[in-house]
Amino acid sequence: MSTQTAPLAFSVTEATRLPVAERDAILQSPGFGDHFTDHMVSIDWSITEGWHNAEVIPYGPLQLDPASSVLHYGQEIFEGLKAYRHADGSVWTFRPEENGKRLNESAKRIALPELPVETFVEALRQLLAVDADWVPSGEDSSLYLRPFMIANENFLGVRSAHKARFLIIASPAGPYFTGGVKPVSIWLSTEYSRAGHGGTGEAKCGGNYASSLLPQNEAAANGCQQVLFLDAKTEDTIDELGGMNLFLVADAGKTLITPALNGNILHGITRASLIQLAKNRGMAVEERAVTVSEWREGAASGRITEAFACGTAAVITPIGALKSPDFTIEMGTEPGEVTLSLRAELTGMQTGVVADENGWMLQLTEAK
Ligand SMILES: *Cc1c(COP(=O)(O)O)cnc(C)c1O
Repeated sequence: MSTQTAPLAFSVTEATRLPVAERDAILQSPGFGDHFTDHMVSIDWSITEGWHNAEVIPYGPLQLDPASSVLHYGQEIFEGLKAYRHADGSVWTFRPEENGKRLNESAKRIALPELPVETFVEALRQLLAVDADWVPSGEDSSLYLRPFMIANENFLGVRSAHKARFLIIASPAGPYFTGGVKPVSIWLSTEYSRAGHGGTGEAKCGGNYASSLLPQNEAAANGCQQVLFLDAKTEDTIDELGGMNLFLVADAGKTLITPALNGNILHGITRASLIQLAKNRGMAVEERAVTVSEWREGAASGRITEAFACGTAAVITPIGALKSPDFTIEMGTEPGEVTLSLRAELTGMQTGVVADENGWMLQLTEAK
């Protein structure tokens, strides 16, 4: 559906910036997703004009007609990646082309237009060119980047929209774990699924998250921070968490096991990167169907010693327990060795203190 030919030129409209003292106060303790930078990217698309009107504009509310298609049938997709400040002051990001490609895979499934990957990466550069001062420099801190696309044709009929808008907003993020990495408890959802066969599980769309919120509330009511979803058909093989992929560590740290991408599981870039790092270390990586029974028996026999979830926001979250109405699998109250060392290697590359042997980092702004 992309009709883009020549590269898009961005226009930049300067915002009234937040005073430096206020910005610095936010960057001292940014939290997650609470504060936004001074600017945002916006690019329009229509079926007749293709992508046009590429802009960096002041961050602010969108004007949407109440009939705008995204508000009715949920035609929305998003991405998530981070910008990191290195010791010399330069700003870098991690594998942004992978996010650009995945955005297009999601776009296909949700019948939204594809955006050229070069335009996606250029849009990130344009935003960082004006908002680089918003990238925090504290340990485990970053600027979280949220590209997203909405259908915005004003029309109530049920068909894919003929107008869309791509935006990028950015939000400074502090350490996900304050006071050290601690294992979380996750809740096994036995009543709800995240995605069905042939559904939208592989697309990074808001609708998948909408359907995960009720089970997420159920998890919270049971003292758990996250939900684990099972395959809707087999009801015993593991898919993933609401917004993170799952890994198990087995055979005295020699094997990494993760559910194979089966059409329902989101293709996590953290997941793919950890598989590569593990292979580089000489670990055996098994991408295959994994059942809860295998996890339960493996934990009991001592074959499976660690479990963790992964995604851009929290990088790697150790799992301390899997709880369900009928049983609990205890994995320990401290993060495992493999979990911590993979986490240190990946975050080290991202923050520029570990050599980037895989060529994953892209520099967005110069040293200063
Ligand atoms: C974004 C996302 C992930 C993690 O993907 P990363 O590219 O590693 O951030 C995992 N599962 C779901 C459902 C997601 O939306």
